[in-house]
Amino acid sequence: MKYIKAALLIDGTGREPVKDPVIAIEGRRISKVGTIDTVKIPEGAVVIDRGRDVLMPGLIDSHSHAGEDSKRAESVSEQHLKPDPLRALRGYVSLRNDLECGVTTVRLLGDGGGFVDKILRDAIEAGELTGPRLLVCCLPVRPSHGTAPEIAQCQGADGVDEVRKRVRQAIYHGADVIKLFTSNISNGDTFLDYLKGDLTKIAAYTKEEMAVAAQEAHRAGKKVAAHCIGGKAIRWGIEAGIDSMEHANLIEEEDIPYFLEHGTYISDPNLHLFFDPVKGFESPHNKSWVWEELPDWWHEKVYRARENTKRVMGKALRDGVKFALATDLNHGGLWLEAKYFVEEIGASPMEAVLACTRNGADCCGILDETGTVEPGKYADIISLPGNPLERIDHLEKAAFVMKQGEVIREDLCTGN
Ligand SMILES: [Zn+2]
Repeated sequence: MKYIKAALLIDGTGREPVKDPVIAIEGRRISKVGTIDTVKIPEGAVVIDRGRDVLMPGLIDSHSHAGEDSKRAESVSEQHLKPDPLRALRGYVSLRNDLECGVTTVRLLGDGGGFVDKILRDAIEAGELTGPRLLVCCLPVRPSHGTAPEIAQCQGADGVDEVRKRVRQAIYHGADVIKLFTSNISNGDTFLDYLKGDLTKIAAYTKEEMAVAAQEAHRAGKKVAAHCIGGKAIRWGIEAGIDSMEHANLIEEEDIPYFLEHGTYISDPNLHLFFDPVKGFESPHNKSWVWEELPDWWHEKVYRARENTKRVMGKALRDGVKFALATDLNHGGLWLEAKYFVEEIGASPMEAVLACTRNGADCCGILDETGTVEPGKYADIISLPGNPLERIDHLEKAAFVMKQGEVIREDLCTGN
């Protein structure tokens, strides 16, 4: 039995923070959550005293790719086309970075061939590597003319029969989640063709194809996450039973009631790409492309999508649409998504905290295991040197990270 003490606990349920918390941990799980007055710490027990720190659930990243990292001076396609062993090694480095930053669960939504995602998941689960708990898709499902072919690394799946087969293959290979590309098509295979197809509202799959994917996935108890920027694919996908719309930057106001009726998540709105001067589309620090050298029509698309993201996602949030935040390729940067969720989308700091804890877990279908600090759940716990409800930037620096009861990181804490 171990005990963690600190100044404050934000337990991830949405409740008011608790002062002078004590969390009791037995093996990999939380056994009690209370305060110094309600949880008795036995004489001689192991106590992790985090001083004036703020405790929180481990963060959840609902959409990432192990083998791509925006820190590298290579395009995303180049990174995905590297040999499998190199992508696995790079993935380990990037995911380790995520864990050190407080992300204890990551959902990987496309890592090319060689089942690199599954190999990393299983090696971490077996204790051979230290990393966040992974949920993986094994084989992303995309049509022949779909965007980002390098993420799938297999023939397109077209028509309901092929989609059904691809979903079943993914499940056979050990997928925790089914990834589907339901919007954006490529009309040519160059980088510019990719950009032409990106940030559009063109549906890539029919509603019938989406529905069969959702049915197959749900029958096997898996969630379906759809790359979907906007257009009809959003409503078709929601009605077809898809669980999360990934990105959704061209969401329309008329889509909001569909999200609300079906409880569908917006996952990974990719806020850093639109709003961050260092990591975003327009950044002079971007190592994958030079913004000024890209055509004006691409600039216009980015501006339109940014305005839309701010305006319509803001309304969606106020109306009650559920959000899960994620990094996509910006490993170690989940805090940036939370920052822009507050500053640009208009979320409260508590909503931002929930979007990378409880909601992330709920979106991924693992809320009974993690996402909040409550008895019975995995002891996925972090501490921060400052209160993110006062300043969301405090999410950047996890000073203490515990994953399933194991201490991963333990910096000197404030007030000791
Ligand atoms: Zn992605």
